[in-house]
Amino acid sequence: MTSVLQALDIAVQAAFVALALFTLTDWVRHRDRQRLWLVVALVSLSALVVLTPAAALVGLPVQLVTDLALVLFVLSGYALLMFRNSLIPLGRRLAAAITVWTVLVAIIGVAAGLSSNPQAQQSPFQLAAVGLIVITWVLCVIEPIFRLGLASIGRPSVEGSRLRSLSLGYAGLVVVIVASTVAGPALRSPTAAVVVDLIVLAIVPLMYASFAPPLWLRQLWSRPEEEELRSALHELLLYSADRATLASRALAGGARMVGAPAGFIQDSDGSMLAAHGLTQKEAAALAAQPGTSRSMLRIPLDLTQGQGMMTILAGPFTPLFGQWEISRLRGFAVSITAGLDRVLLTGRIVALEKAKTDFLDFASHELRGPITVIKGYLTMIAAGSLGDVPPKAASVVPLLVAKADEVNSMLEQMIETSRLEEGRLALRKERSDVASLTEDAIQNIGPLVSDHEVNIDRPPEPLWADVDPDRLQIVVRNLVSNAVKYSAAGAPIAVTVARRDHHAFVAVTDTGIGINKDDQRSLFTRFGRIQSAATAHTSGAGLGLWLSREIARMHDGDLTVESEPGKGSTFTLEIPLNSD
Ligand code: ADP
Repeated sequence: MTSVLQALDIAVQAAFVALALFTLTDWVRHRDRQRLWLVVALVSLSALVVLTPAAALVGLPVQLVTDLALVLFVLSGYALLMFRNSLIPLGRRLAAAITVWTVLVAIIGVAAGLSSNPQAQQSPFQLAAVGLIVITWVLCVIEPIFRLGLASIGRPSVEGSRLRSLSLGYAGLVVVIVASTVAGPALRSPTAAVVVDLIVLAIVPLMYASFAPPLWLRQLWSRPEEEELRSALHELLLYSADRATLASRALAGGARMVGAPAGFIQDSDGSMLAAHGLTQKEAAALAAQPGTSRSMLRIPLDLTQGQGMMTILAGPFTPLFGQWEISRLRGFAVSITAGLDRVLLTGRIVALEKAKTDFLDFASHELRGPITVIKGYLTMIAAGSLGDVPPKAASVVPLLVAKADEVNSMLEQMIETSRLEEGRLALRKERSDVASLTEDAIQNIGPLVSDHEVNIDRPPEPLWADVDPDRLQIVVRNLVSNAVKYSAAGAPIAVTVARRDHHAFVAVTDTGIGINKDDQRSLFTRFGRIQSAATAHTSGAGLGLWLSREIARMHDGDLTVESEPGKGSTFTLEIPLNSD
């Protein structure tokens, strides 16, 4: 049993030395002031553990060893509190007072000439000194357990976990010290001593993990953040209204993922797109600093207009910026870059769309005046109101009138399109007979259909529906003029108006060129024209069918097509009938 105990004692000492050495090498690699205090605390604790056996080997005077142990003990407690102070500041005055107090306690302890033998008779001064030392150490270590634990509440996952693990680390230290210095000797049973040693041995690696979180622990902490970010990423990248919003939302997510409290994103021209956890001014000042520091991660963003930069700043509770954090952020940066470019492109497309709509609006209004004048005079010439026209000239006048009608109908489509795009197309619905509206619409484009035989088949009774008469006629005119445009001269065109259930149907059938299945998909898109040898010489802007379907749908109806290449097409407008 004694040899087991001896082996375990050596193992505990070795574990402490290893803990101190690990922390020391970690500090040498990162050199931050925060960790220096942790190193001092753990080195002094491990020195304390190996002091007695080492002193026995060297043969140091007993009193000197006891005093040294006392100083190391007090120093370890003080350093632990200072480590906490570097995470959550205590305030200058309080920190200074604690320093003075600790030095005083150590001096009193040394002056009391404490004995290392627990059985020795203690003077009241010595007892008081022991009490002071123990209370001071306990306060130094217990306060951070609660302070760090409390500070973790409500923090993002990684920072919160880091604080909780630090709090646990402190608690582990208390358990280890109490177990090895108080409980072990007090129990004085070898079995109890073995159990205590085993507990201490189990806690030491956990303490290391909590003070210097290894990769697996950091990954575990950031998992909830990553999950959240992943599920929010789609919305973030696709629906952020502008680049600044996208950048600031992405930045907050990225910082949280690695437990950083602040960061900023610069655009390709160096301007500040977003700052998180610090002001734009502070961010600009940091951005101007050359190079990188250990507490700052710079991740390039390869934007289309040039290189931007995402900078993430470590805070007191940031676990560590290791290779893993860098690779996660790099992966995330690719998504942010795509998102930022997407917003830029969308912005450009919207601006282009706007310019196109503005142009449509402008051009159609400007052209409408002259064409009205032209059409007016042509009609007068055709009617003979302007005197006799030579027979040759008179023969082309109907064609000119038809062409003026065609231009007019194109202008009408352009005006309606720009209205629709800007949300200005308000329907003026009234109870109307769909069959009569259809007949009137065809009548209006008489010159245009003069080359064709248009047969209208309508029921004798009216088909009442709540429709905007002007807009409904636009649809009919467009369908009939398309039937004219895309079928041979003289070919018949059938217009059937019918009622089925609670709907009115206006079907326009031609025996023209027809449309193949693939092309039918793009028929109803804006500016969607089918490019083929048969349509190459027909004029049109590709707006008519799109506009017609939009109008049909605004009436809760629809516009559909059935067509076979070479045989002809049937376009069917469906409108709900008035329920009264
Ligand atoms: P456009 O002003 O070009 O006629 P539309 O939107 O009215 O624009 O029609 C879109 C395209 O659909 C046309 O360019 C044409 O290729 C095709 N199309 C429309 N109506 C017919 C039809 N009755 N027969 C064959 N093709 C048609």
